Amino acid sequence: MKITAAVSRSPDSPFTLESVDLDEPRPDEVLVRISATGLCHTDLSSKSLMPGPAVLGHEGAGVVEAVGARVSGITPGDHVLLSYRSCGECAQCRGGHRSYCSRGALLNYSGGRADGTATLSQNGTRLFGSFFGQSSFAQYALAAADNVVVVDPSVDLTVAAPLGCGFQTGAGAVLNVLSPEPNSRLAVFGAGGVGLAAVMAAKAVGVEAVTVVDPVASRRAKAVELGASQVVDPSSEDVAAAVQGATHALDTTGLGDVVAAALSALESRGILAVVGLGARHVTIDITDLLMNGKMIRGCIEGDANPCEFIPELLTLHAQGKFPMDAIVRRYDARDIETAVADSLSGEAIKPVLVW
Ligand code: ZN
Repeated sequence: MKITAAVSRSPDSPFTLESVDLDEPRPDEVLVRISATGLCHTDLSSKSLMPGPAVLGHEGAGVVEAVGARVSGITPGDHVLLSYRSCGECAQCRGGHRSYCSRGALLNYSGGRADGTATLSQNGTRLFGSFFGQSSFAQYALAAADNVVVVDPSVDLTVAAPLGCGFQTGAGAVLNVLSPEPNSRLAVFGAGGVGLAAVMAAKAVGVEAVTVVDPVASRRAKAVELGASQVVDPSSEDVAAAVQGATHALDTTGLGDVVAAALSALESRGILAVVGLGARHVTIDITDLLMNGKMIRGCIEGDANPCEFIPELLTLHAQGKFPMDAIVRRYDARDIETAVADSLSGEAIKPVLVW
């Protein structure tokens, strides 16, 4: 079918809305009419690596248009959020660790279906598609049963779309990995969508001492609004002094100096979770790590199984304990370049495109 999608033609070219061809759903696929799509830094970092035309977007939300014959539990008309794909059969998936699926790269980043066929093309030429099993910077997306989360029709899809990746990543890092107690001291580095989702999750479970470090004043103000007990401007304040003695820390920045500083600031037996992609290599003090029993732990997608975790976050949201509306800014999908610029400048914390 002919659909409109935001196409990235090269790393340096803007996204342009173009007519493209979306394949018919296979028996194990779900066709979703997209209502809203969160814009995530992973879209932009992936764009910078795409030499040819690609349709990105991996925080899609919409309404099911059609389902393949082998899909059960999902029916046309269902309101759904789209997340990352996992095979459900490998040792990691069977152990409940779907974000570490052994087929994850094939299912999420290969540019097409697992069998190599394309879902998106244009005038007969293949486009990079199936990004996170969706490529939802588009009016319609093909997903699979394993990355479709059915939600109540009362859920505002323009607010909930980022649950599929960014919000799940930050909240999951706190609730599934760090697991702080109410008397823990949590330091969050970076107050973007992921970092502030972490703050919301920490407050939801009663953590009182939450310090947020970010150079953008409006983001620090938002962190305070969401319950941070202390905010720090790293461009003018002593970060090390402010976060010293944290029992738990989360890095969303991917900056080597920040990761090292976060680890250094931890109290004995403290744990640092890293979720920001950036510097590949960081120098850390092994003596400090060893003598103080510290731990550093990577995690992706909040170690969450979307079909279980996203409904939990929606329940918290309904109870007023995960006020994600506060960090979403909606953009008409035609204004995707404005959304990108506002995301990069820090002007918008979590842009959501509305189709
Ligand atoms: Zn798997």
